[in-house]
Amino acid sequence: MKEVQCQDITAAIKKMCMEAACQLPHDVFKAIKDKQLEEDGKLAKKTLQVIIDNASLASENQMPICQDTGMAFVYVTMGQEVHIQGGSLKEAIEEGVRQGYQEGYLRKSVVKDPLFNRVNTQDNTPAIIYYDIVPGDIFKIVLAPKGFGSENMSQIKMLKPSDGLQGVKDFVLKVVNDAGPNACPPMVIGVGIGGSFDKVTMLAKKAMIREIGSHHPNQQYAALEDELLEMINQTGIGPAGYGGKTTALSLNIETFPTHIAGMPVAVSICCHVARHKEVEL
Ligand code: SF4
Repeated sequence: MKEVQCQDITAAIKKMCMEAACQLPHDVFKAIKDKQLEEDGKLAKKTLQVIIDNASLASENQMPICQDTGMAFVYVTMGQEVHIQGGSLKEAIEEGVRQGYQEGYLRKSVVKDPLFNRVNTQDNTPAIIYYDIVPGDIFKIVLAPKGFGSENMSQIKMLKPSDGLQGVKDFVLKVVNDAGPNACPPMVIGVGIGGSFDKVTMLAKKAMIREIGSHHPNQQYAALEDELLEMINQTGIGPAGYGGKTTALSLNIETFPTHIAGMPVAVSICCHVARHKEVEL
């Protein structure tokens, strides 16, 4: 049995909150630079350069890349042979978020009630936490703080099986066009297909944080990832919505078996500030 201490979980979450806010993941930063080389429009090139300069300055000076430092999404993968010691796992995570946002001077963006009492909780908690219990003794945490300019642009649709491939393509394109400049493009896009109303949004989120350049293991879905990305980059929305070839940096698909009567599809949109960090304890 592997033992993981709550105080180590809190420290890891705190560190990841502070680092994620200031450092773009390598794959995202590289994708922005690569896309800049492919742009021939002057404004598109310049806009991407501003994004690159902003990310570099944020990293050098340990300043947040964007004022919206997001709500903390935490994905825990925990082996059945792991024992958490020294308190509650949930509390350890919340405390890490609390400390990270406080000590990192990151904007607190969470209100305690969504409708009637929208008062700021003052410490960016609660986090949104998902647990995946697996065999073995792994204990891995992925932290993905997400701004809501892009989160608000995400959508789900319960397609019918007869809508088929074309239905999926049309819906993904519609979501991207609806988002337009509001999602601070270039976007990082996760598409979930299958499962159920609730499962498909999780698939889309998981796809969104998958490494840029990786592909679905099934060749048909991998080809669809490439095709959709190309179609999206032909919309002309471009960096910051000023026009250009770079509307999205990546599009990843995750799938799950579904019911004979349905074909749920979810599109999770993230801006170019696609923050995520992971740690294994
Ligand atoms: S969508 Fe992204 S870049 Fe735009 S304000 Fe929100 S976090 Fe910042």
